Amino acid sequence: MELVNLKDASDTVSFAQAVKKGLGKHQGLYFPNDIKPMENINELLALPLAERSTKILQHLVGDELGDELVETLINSAFTFPAPLAKVKKDIYCLELFHGPTLAFKDFGGRFMAQCLSSISDGAPVTILTATSGDTGAAVAHAFHGIENINVVILFPKGKISPLQEKLFTTLGDNIHTVAVDADFDACQQLVKTAFDDPEVREGLHLNSANSINISRLLAQVCYYFEAVAQLPEESRDKAVFSVPSGNFGNLTAGIIAKTLGLPIKRFIAGTNSNDTVPRYLSTGEWAPKPTVATMSNAMDVSQPNNWPRIEALVEQGYFDKALLLGEAVDEEYTQVAMRQLLQEGYTSEPHAAIAYRCLTKQLQEDEVGVFLGTAHPAKFKEVVENVLGQPLSLPKALVDASGKASLEVELPNDYEALKQHMFALLK
Ligand SMILES: *Cc1c(COP(=O)(O)O)cnc(C)c1O
Repeated sequence: MELVNLKDASDTVSFAQAVKKGLGKHQGLYFPNDIKPMENINELLALPLAERSTKILQHLVGDELGDELVETLINSAFTFPAPLAKVKKDIYCLELFHGPTLAFKDFGGRFMAQCLSSISDGAPVTILTATSGDTGAAVAHAFHGIENINVVILFPKGKISPLQEKLFTTLGDNIHTVAVDADFDACQQLVKTAFDDPEVREGLHLNSANSINISRLLAQVCYYFEAVAQLPEESRDKAVFSVPSGNFGNLTAGIIAKTLGLPIKRFIAGTNSNDTVPRYLSTGEWAPKPTVATMSNAMDVSQPNNWPRIEALVEQGYFDKALLLGEAVDEEYTQVAMRQLLQEGYTSEPHAAIAYRCLTKQLQEDEVGVFLGTAHPAKFKEVVENVLGQPLSLPKALVDASGKASLEVELPNDYEALKQHMFALLK
């Protein structure tokens, strides 16, 4: 697979190089030059998740990694299911939260960790990533204990639910966590600055595990197939996917799945009040505003870093922008949606509820809606209990983590302070 830097067409790399580098020159994202559709989609849909996902990734990167290695990577990464739960007539939730950290980011994080450790040449690598919650946990768990890989995770201090923090600040060993006195966009900016600093980039062999890493996106393509495979056969070509979006990696993966030939009718990008994309889709003007904090905090992003990849899919002629609708849901309607879901007998959390709300507003007759359940409700226990007025029990992963001591270091929003800290830790 050849990938091109979207900011510099002369910078082309292999899949392995893109996985190792994360970002290219001028902070450009890597993206496949050419996405060939797959054949026999129906046969593919008949296979079990890991077997089908192996075939999808073999199609995408098998030429380079070899089919056998791809199979090993998928079998190590995809060890949990992605069930499609029927919520009511014609509306389903694709539950992506049955992995070790109870969020969809386990799929991409675990596949990326497998890729990196299998293609590394043994030299120590530093993963530097910013998280608004779920990425940190997924990356931390995926890399915990992997030799020669150190992980540094920045997160906005006080802006992540305490339980969520526990999932990644308590691991220790090769997992280093930093609470930055700033919001998520500022954390993301610190990461970008570090990648632009040759002393740090080369001195610590930096790699990013954000959703900018192409391996994560390619892994996420697989669960869109898993959703369609579980739909009643007569509904398969009527599916509208509603994707709760922050950095827009999840939606990018969905559009790649459609490009591969999966019969998805159209997409809805649901955001919270950080609505840069919905406004852009309706006005044509890209005008990010300062990020505001919401209860769907994994989507508190006003400058979504995967958006250029969606533009690339449009420019390459793979995707018709008319098939994407943006919709912003405010705090009040997020709560309304959570209560409506409960009335259907389905307990959900704010991110998925936003996507559900978009479906109930936008789904047309003769369409079937699938919204992505991006996190387990218990990850947002305080908010969910507050809104729904009933207690939630914790799954085992959370009970275990909540009993452990947090190990994060606190730093101001200051690049030099971060740089010193990383050198002290890792050099
Ligand atoms: C990361 C995350 C999102 C946003 O996904 P993107 O790929 O960044 O758009 C939505 N919901 C939850 C629970 C998340 O953790």
